[in-house]
This record gives sequence, structure tokens and C-alpha cells, in this order.
Amino acid sequence: MTTKDFIELDEKYGAHNYHPLPVVISWAQGVKVKDPEGKEYFDFLSAYSAVNQGHRHPKIVKALVDQAQVCTLTSRAFHNDRMGGFLKRLCEYTGYEMALPMNTGAEAVETAIKAARRWGVEVKGVENGKQEIICVAENFHGRTLGAISMSSDPESTVNYGPYVPGFVRVPYADIDAMAKAVTKNTVAILVEPIQGEAGVCVPYDGYLRDIRALCDKHNILFIADEVQTGFCRTGKRFAWQHEGARPDVMCLGKALGGGIMPVSAIVADHKVMDVFTPGTHGSTFGGNPLASAVAIAAMDVLEDEKLDEHAEKLGKIFRDEVAKIPCKNMVKVRGKGLLNAVLFKDGFEAWNVCLALRDAGLLAKQTHGNIIRFAPPLVITEAELRQAIGIISKVLSAY
Ligand SMILES: *Cc1c(COP(=O)(O)O)cnc(C)c1O
Repeated sequence: MTTKDFIELDEKYGAHNYHPLPVVISWAQGVKVKDPEGKEYFDFLSAYSAVNQGHRHPKIVKALVDQAQVCTLTSRAFHNDRMGGFLKRLCEYTGYEMALPMNTGAEAVETAIKAARRWGVEVKGVENGKQEIICVAENFHGRTLGAISMSSDPESTVNYGPYVPGFVRVPYADIDAMAKAVTKNTVAILVEPIQGEAGVCVPYDGYLRDIRALCDKHNILFIADEVQTGFCRTGKRFAWQHEGARPDVMCLGKALGGGIMPVSAIVADHKVMDVFTPGTHGSTFGGNPLASAVAIAAMDVLEDEKLDEHAEKLGKIFRDEVAKIPCKNMVKVRGKGLLNAVLFKDGFEAWNVCLALRDAGLLAKQTHGNIIRFAPPLVITEAELRQAIGIISKVLSAY
């Protein structure tokens, strides 16, 4: 079957809830993928940062295969001999006391919302049903009803009402608006340290510290959604570390599964996590032995290969070099580490550039029409990065 055949199958039998770039991937390794015709591409999306360790990293694949031959799923009705080791590793890696495993990023966000609401009643003393969570415009926290109820994006919310109440939305990177939104019922402030889906929006330096201070002042939980920014993507293990503003709860997902399977979690200290008691939250697949083995290997790779420092170094090269490209419609390149985006003029159709990049051998996807995110697997070498920048330069120069 050809690329055309595979796309037709998707169109015929799949719900039309995505508009993918017309390319089919049938093989992947490291930073490269191939289509059914054998054409090779650089992957500059990395499954929205779920493939930080590169496609099919041998150590992660080995962990998967080894564990698949022993025990894969027990449910939480019983203990298994892998979950505890995974949670210990995750706590040590993140610097938190406890972790609660789920599967997808959206579930991690839901878990954080539930933790905050319960903490609000049981620790802060807010009346149940009155809890408020402050979120920010242009956020992306996933596709569940809870997550879209925070969204300001008409596409992800249209006709899905009634929405979940209890969210108060303020403009991004506006600490005064955030402070004004605080009431005695505010239990949490939820933000992405860098907004990925919004187009890699980096806030002013000090924003997270300001949020931390606001939360301390009013006894509010600071929740960071690090599903996309976490696990070395921005040049630190977690993006909040750029400002030293430690959240009370972190939502994690994507690269925690090493590009192999969905693994997510929240991490927090006892004071928050102890609100969960038997029967109050859970997931059939959360903490399963296969996911646990994969996630341990995923963190090992990030640490052993020092992918945080590597992302920091290569990100600087990327931004410096791309800023030099003579492209009439480019406004700027922005980002941290290897989470970057090129912003084009208003009304510019970045989709056409993505098609041209594809033809030139590099896969990237536009967001918001006029922004293209560039986020290769963190295992990319400097030589490969420079080769990819050459492709981007050749294509962008024509626009
Ligand atoms: C991708 C993403 C999510 C949702 O993760 P899923 O695994 O797709 O449910 C949540 N928050 C952020 C910041 C994300 O980038």
C-alpha cells in the first residue's frame, strides 16, 4: 500500500477529529522517520514532545520487551513488583515526596484538579462546590471535559457544553489580573510554564516566581502542567527550574512514556497527595508493570545522556541560526531549549511552509495558522541539527 492508500483508509474509517499533514510514517528510529515509499524525514515534532528520547531508543525498547515477557497488567486491585520502583524513581527525579500514576496527560491534569479541589475543602476549609481554580487564556491541558472547560480556544470547545464550572480564566503572563481573580475560594492556579500548543509562548522572566509568591500569600496550590515542557525539553528537567519557582503539583506525561506508551502522573508532597484515600481516584492501567518499566528506562535515558544540558546547548544554536534566515514573512523565533517556534506575520499560511518542509525532508506542524513549532527529539546531534537547519533555511528563504 502507498501513502495515498493509507491516508484514504484513515479518511474513510477514522473520525475526522484531526487535520494531519499528508505524510504517512511507517518506520522511525532516533530523529528520523520514513514513509511507505522509503523517503526519509527529520521528525521536528517528536509527537508533541512525547519522543524526547528519540524513536525506539534501544534501552527503552529493551525494558518494554523484557517486561512484556514477564507481567504486563495487574490493575490496582493488587500490588505489582514494578510500580513502586517507578514511583520512587519519579519522585527522586522530580524532587517530590509522592506520585500518582495515570496514563495520558489529560488524566494527569484531571488528577491535579481533583487533588486541588479536595485539598481546598479538607485542608484550606473551602466549602465543597465553591472551589475555584484560576487558569490562563490560550492554555492547553488536554481534551477531557475538565480540560476543555478551561480552554479559550473556540475549536476545542464549540458545542460541548455544559462545561465544568469552577474555573476562572485570566490573560496569560498578567500577574495583576491573576491577583485580582483570587477569592477566598481559590484553591489552585494552573499554568503551563511555557505554553506549547499556543505557539511556544514564553512568559516574562519572573512570571512563575510571581505566581509562587501569590500562591504563598493566599494559601493556594501552584500547579504546573509540565506535560509538554517536562523531561528536559526546555533545557532543564522541568521548565519551572528556569525560575526556581517550585510548584506544589506537577502534571507529567508525554516523554515519561519514552515515546513508546502512554504514561502520566502527578507528583506532589504529602500535604497535597494525602487527600487521596482508597476509592477516591484511580485508573485500571495507571501504574501497570509495563508502563512502569518503560518509564524507568525513559528517565534513565534522559539522565544518562544528559539531555537537559544537550537541549539547552542545541536550542541556543537553533535560535541563533534560524534568526539569521532571510525570510520576508518571519517575525521571530522564540523558545527555550529544544522547544522552539517560528512566528510568521499575521495571516501568513504556515501550512504551505510545512508542506514545503515535508518535501525537503523535515516534518513540522503549524499551530494557530502562522506559527510553526520546531521540537526535534533531544537525542539529535549537533551535526544533524545543523543539517536540519540547512533544510529549514532553504525552505524559509523562499517565503
Ligand atoms: C499534550 C498535553 C496535554 C494532554 O496530554 P494527552 O496525553 O494528549 O492527554 C496536557 N497538557 C499539555 C501542556 C500538553 O501539551
